[in-house]
Amino acid sequence: MSHQYYLSKDTMWKATISCDATYDGVFFYAVKTTGIFCRPSCKSRIPNDENVSFFGSADEAQKAGYRPCKRCRPDLCVSKYDPLTFILEDTICLIKNNYIQNLSLDDIASNVGVSRFHLNRIFKERIGCTPRMYLEKFRVNKAKELLLTTQFNSTQIGYQIGYQSISSFYSAFKRNTGFSPNQFRTLHVRNCSNQK
Ligand SMILES: [Zn+2]
Repeated sequence: MSHQYYLSKDTMWKATISCDATYDGVFFYAVKTTGIFCRPSCKSRIPNDENVSFFGSADEAQKAGYRPCKRCRPDLCVSKYDPLTFILEDTICLIKNNYIQNLSLDDIASNVGVSRFHLNRIFKERIGCTPRMYLEKFRVNKAKELLLTTQFNSTQIGYQIGYQSISSFYSAFKRNTGFSPNQFRTLHVRNCSNQK
């Protein structure tokens, strides 16, 4: 599961340089110059940020040609129990599997087993946005994909990714990309044909 894509680079970089163990298992960082990848908590020397790439699993890092660090052994499972990390992982997983449905923060919170207030707070602290914003970003990314790879019109796409009204889809899309779905499609289709 690679949800590191939805953590901002900035969040992952900050976790890396502060050796934040709460992100262990959530993402891994690899260093180009050494060919080695680590858990965020690893106390090895802080790399240059331009040499760092991030991965959602040890598998992905290894497939990209990196070797596991001998110090933090990112290739082994962590047995350390951090309830907050589990809550985050459960929430992200829930959003990914159910974004097509009408998903409320109450649904998410009760499924994960915490109050919505608590969920909002830890999500903001660790991921840098609320679960609602996370869901919105996730849906908008899906919409972009569908706009560029299918013939569905923007109304159909809005409903397909779980929006209950087209106006809320449009405003979410605009908020995240600066464009309407149709502008986005036209712009990218034109850019692609220009490059040919
Ligand atoms: Zn390490």
